[in-house]
Amino acid sequence: MYGIEIENIASKKSNEEIYYALLEFTKDVMQKRGRIEGKKKIYYISAEFLIGKLLSNNLINLGLYDQVAEALAKNGKSMAEIEEIEPEPSLGNGGLGRLAACFLDSIATLGLAGDGIGLNYHLGLFKQEFENNLQKEVKNPWIEKQSWLRRTGKGYTVIFGDLRVQSVMYEIDVTGYDNKCNTLKLFDIESIDEGMVNEGSISFDKNDIRKNLTLFLYPDDSDYNGELLRIYQQYFMVSNAAQLIIDEALAKGSNLYDLPDYAVIQINDTHPTMVIPELIRLLLKRGISMDDSINIVSKMCAYTNHTILAEALEKWPIWYLEKVVPHLMPVIKMLDVKAKEKHSNPRVAIIDNENRVHMAHIDIHYGFSVNGVAALHTDILKKSELKPFYDIYPQKFNNKTNGITFRRWLLHCNHELSSLITSKIGDGYKKNANELEKLMQFAGDKETQDKLLDIKAAKKKEFKEYIKEKQGIDIDGNSIFDVQVKRLHEYKRQQMNALYIIYKYMEIKAGRKPERPVTMIFGAKAAPAYTIAKDIIHLILCLSEIIRNDPDVSPYLNVVMLENYNVTYAEKVIPAADISEQISLASKEASGTSNMKFMLNGAVTLGTDDGANVEIHEFVGDDNIYIFGESSEQVIKHYENSDYSSEKIYDNDKDISKLVDFIISKELFAVGNKKSLIRLYMEIVTKDWFMALLDLKEYIKVKEQVLAEYENREAWASKMLVNIAKAGFFSSDRTISQYNEDIWKLN
Ligand SMILES: *Cc1c(COP(=O)(O)O)cnc(C)c1O
Repeated sequence: MYGIEIENIASKKSNEEIYYALLEFTKDVMQKRGRIEGKKKIYYISAEFLIGKLLSNNLINLGLYDQVAEALAKNGKSMAEIEEIEPEPSLGNGGLGRLAACFLDSIATLGLAGDGIGLNYHLGLFKQEFENNLQKEVKNPWIEKQSWLRRTGKGYTVIFGDLRVQSVMYEIDVTGYDNKCNTLKLFDIESIDEGMVNEGSISFDKNDIRKNLTLFLYPDDSDYNGELLRIYQQYFMVSNAAQLIIDEALAKGSNLYDLPDYAVIQINDTHPTMVIPELIRLLLKRGISMDDSINIVSKMCAYTNHTILAEALEKWPIWYLEKVVPHLMPVIKMLDVKAKEKHSNPRVAIIDNENRVHMAHIDIHYGFSVNGVAALHTDILKKSELKPFYDIYPQKFNNKTNGITFRRWLLHCNHELSSLITSKIGDGYKKNANELEKLMQFAGDKETQDKLLDIKAAKKKEFKEYIKEKQGIDIDGNSIFDVQVKRLHEYKRQQMNALYIIYKYMEIKAGRKPERPVTMIFGAKAAPAYTIAKDIIHLILCLSEIIRNDPDVSPYLNVVMLENYNVTYAEKVIPAADISEQISLASKEASGTSNMKFMLNGAVTLGTDDGANVEIHEFVGDDNIYIFGESSEQVIKHYENSDYSSEKIYDNDKDISKLVDFIISKELFAVGNKKSLIRLYMEIVTKDWFMALLDLKEYIKVKEQVLAEYENREAWASKMLVNIAKAGFFSSDRTISQYNEDIWKLN
């Protein structure tokens, strides 16, 4: 099918012409595929959908990829160069948004009726540039005239305290792998003014809601107006969602009392929480009683918790909500009163005695399910963070270990590896990821090992060329690629990795040269208002410069930071990685998903027993992963007893203080910003809230062991193979079938 059309498109002259023709063609094919239908639908509401480029993935899911690639090849073109034309949608920050995107792929692939609901941020998250070894944020307009977005005639009126707006709904089709389509629905308003943001910046007037409501994803929330804007955004998202959900259920014959038979809502983190009071408000308006409304809505809403970092759990001062959504306050206050009537413990109150509204508490009292995102994370929620809630509602708590879509993170980003796998075990694994386990029989097979090593070498070479082209940076394709890519956060401990680099630099300076060069690869954006995170980026960029310009060291060690790390960059660097750095402070990374992407692509994990690393560890066994550091129980005890002191470690351990002192050395001051380096130094010595110094020594020791063991290429290839073979559990198809069986119960 489509042979002639595809031939025609592939024979067009410029890459642009081909891309835009393929875009329209693919959109057309998806429309003709038809919708996934079902009485009950899952609405996945999320402030973020980090969907990545869509052309290749859609073609793979439609079964047209090979045909298109062949037609392009006949015309001397490649899919890779056509894809370069496609802008990456900028609708997410990191893991949480990427998870939502993987879930949409799996929901459609499993043939479940389910739509994503979010916002159409015009300038998305900022684009990261490096200037003088500092992160600079510039606007990232990603929406073009011709795009995957389809404007619909639908929209709703959304009321705020001081204005009302008319929304427009856009849709992006989501095709399942060998299945029909669902949609991602993104709401917007027409009066957005992209011109209010200057070139090369991301600052704008935060007061004019009509012009800025969907301008940015999570604009800087460090000031009052920024936080208010965030509440405007959240309410705009969920009011549209609630109206749409009621409309669709009514159209299918619901009498509203049976709404839970038509719709189930997954609340992705607390950002969409106001959908609960909003739905209740809309039912009240239609004449349903308060008790009935609460009852109906409580049967529809399920909440996913993504973090135990206290600062990330949303608590809004009540007067924020009174200003933005005054008409919602009677409902929220009623929900609070009813919860207090039943449960006197102040730790489970919705409105606390400082008049702050705890969004997660609304979700837990008035939803029917609360899930964590990895076994350890759910355990910690039950035992400590949410223990008072677990004591009241044990039946609501459940675990859904995160997953990733293998279409994007294997079939698309690593054709070579997926072909090798198919040649060994057939292609059943593409639909049933557990079949990867069949690869275990080849773990000791020399021929398979060699092929695997060859593929890794080829992907490293591809990446070397890509980064040369994008950033003008030379890396040694024969070196070990040690990769840490993820948002910059102190709990993820990029600073600990930077201290390792300082260690290695000093070792090489002292004449202890490694057998094989190492390339340390970072990719990370820091939130614009997160000063220490930006200081850590600055440190890494400065180290990179010092090492690059030191002829004693540069032949053995290279540090590179990917500029504007995003899904596209992830798809290039992950297949090329040898070592996957997953070194968060135990108990702090809820799950992680890049750990799964790396594993699937044959990288070996160097990490702490945190998040889903714990489960990866269990699957691959001690011999195929490198685990170090204090356990989550030990770390939690340190916090409880307040007995961790980085200052003590610094004062008593010269090996460590020597590394930390280098941050404020003359070498660093010569290339860096003194104020930033001193601030970071002081933070590590006097605070170190995420305990980088606690695990530093063991980290260095184990990392040296990993680098040494890399030289046993046969044993390393066997580790790679075991990692790939055991990755099946981490398919988001498994995650989504568990959501459906335990929570959504569609069909
Ligand atoms: C997978 C992914 C993440 C999440 O990475 P973690 O290491 O799990 O935090 C963040 N950003 C991008 C672009 C990703 O693809």
